[in-house]
Amino acid sequence: MKDAYLDAIADADPYAYWFDDADEPESNPTLVRTESCDLCIIGGGYTGLWTAIIAKERDPSRDVILIDAATVGGAASGRNGGFMESSLTHGVANGQERFPNELATLEQLGLENLNQIEAAIRRYGIDCDYERTGVIDVATSTHAVEELREDERQLRALGQDVKFLDRDAMQAEVHSPTYYAGLWRKDRAAMVDPARLAWGLKAAAESLGVRIFEDTKATSLERDGVGVLVTTPIGRVRAGRVALGTNAYPPLLKRLKHYIAPVYDYCMVTEPLTPEQLASVGWANRQGLSDIPNQFHYYRLTADNRILWGGYDAIYFWNGWVNPVLESRPETWAKLSEHFFTTFPQLEGVLFTHVWGGAIDTCSRFCCFWGKSMGGRVAYALGYTGLGVGAARFGAEVMLDLLDGKRSKATELEFVRSKPIPFPPEPFRFAGIQATRWSMNHEDRTGKRNVWLRTLDRLGLGFDS
Ligand SMILES: Cc1cc2nc3c(=O)[nH]c(=O)nc-3n(C[C@H](O)[C@H](O)[C@H](O)COP(=O)(O)OP(=O)(O)OC[C@H]3O[C@@H](n4cnc5c(N)ncnc54)[C@H](O)[C@@H]3O)c2cc1C
Repeated sequence: MKDAYLDAIADADPYAYWFDDADEPESNPTLVRTESCDLCIIGGGYTGLWTAIIAKERDPSRDVILIDAATVGGAASGRNGGFMESSLTHGVANGQERFPNELATLEQLGLENLNQIEAAIRRYGIDCDYERTGVIDVATSTHAVEELREDERQLRALGQDVKFLDRDAMQAEVHSPTYYAGLWRKDRAAMVDPARLAWGLKAAAESLGVRIFEDTKATSLERDGVGVLVTTPIGRVRAGRVALGTNAYPPLLKRLKHYIAPVYDYCMVTEPLTPEQLASVGWANRQGLSDIPNQFHYYRLTADNRILWGGYDAIYFWNGWVNPVLESRPETWAKLSEHFFTTFPQLEGVLFTHVWGGAIDTCSRFCCFWGKSMGGRVAYALGYTGLGVGAARFGAEVMLDLLDGKRSKATELEFVRSKPIPFPPEPFRFAGIQATRWSMNHEDRTGKRNVWLRTLDRLGLGFDS
């Protein structure tokens, strides 16, 4: 039926599937008076939560407060696809291009980081459907097969456990008429329920004595003796140090606005597949899947065998607008639904139950960057560009090293010491991002990289999700 992909989304709730869960924790109080602490963390996503946990694990006597403008885990950390990858550089190709001399170390640190997350999930008994399945990058065109071969060579040279799947081997894993080949990056990625992970980290932080306030937006930071005064609408925090994990939201340090472009990413979830429907797809090893054009899809199974399907469009709104109304974009959901049934025509008739979106913090190098302000009293970690589920723990650990004045293997790296190239101001930013999206789409259709993209390559500037 011609418009069946539209019927498939007609009854979907515009709400993140992961929040439809009876185990969502009670909300915490708003900060209504002046509190003091050693460390105030602003932002209750993974970056803020890991900062809180690692800070207390390093020094249990440190008094830590975490505040969030809304709900802990309510932003990207609770609504993402749940692909927890070891890469700290938004993939090995981006790492090779920007930090060739440090790539082997970064891949090793990334693996250690993923192992540390797994250990913490076990240590704190976090029930987040953690499955270390790895990810298959799938080729849906002949030139993508060549790219996968190149990635395979590079990953093997780094000593990684990868398996190239030719057409038959790929079909044996997951059945789709669109697949030409796949590259299974084993051991380097896990699938999680992202909201349950955020809620579990919140509980772990509280068990260590972290005081958490929700619906408490920091409105300004100022020097206060040897510390920092954090002002909120009806309260204040006097803190020795401040850690910022505010991701795509308007930054409290104005200079960060030049480095971050908030971009909206959208995804959706089907109803649970019946055993027959699942058998028609295969997918016994439950890997995360992702195709590899510029505009890519990511998809995976949930614990109850729904398919989460997302990506492709990455939408920047004029002047870096961030607002919950932008989490709804029916035209993107329609496009995603059409692509879903092209990939899995055998699932005709399956319905989507939830559709949603969220903001990611795109920067021009596609991976986290760090910095300090106010004489080292304030530090920040952001810029994950849509790949922060795993990397946010590393971002937090390094941010804490910077605040504690601790030298580590990571703090010596150019990766940590350098910043991305800033984006231009409006209206050039908006025009530049639209031109880049158009050019990337053109490249996906024709295989040709145009003058605009080649110029950006030379400048080291990029746009991704
Ligand atoms: C739809 C979608 C799918 C994604 N899929 C994946 C994926 O599969 N794998 C992957 O690796 N990454 C994915 N990502 C990206 C990933 O979710 C993020 O990189 C990661 O969650 C970032 O965590 P964070 O703590 O830095 O930010 P966030 O989770 O955004 O948290 C920032 C917090 O700061 C708070 N805040 C902001 N300003 C203030 C203020 N002034 N005062 C107080 N609080 C403030 C906000 O309320 C928010 O809770 C996806 C993102 C989206 C939106």
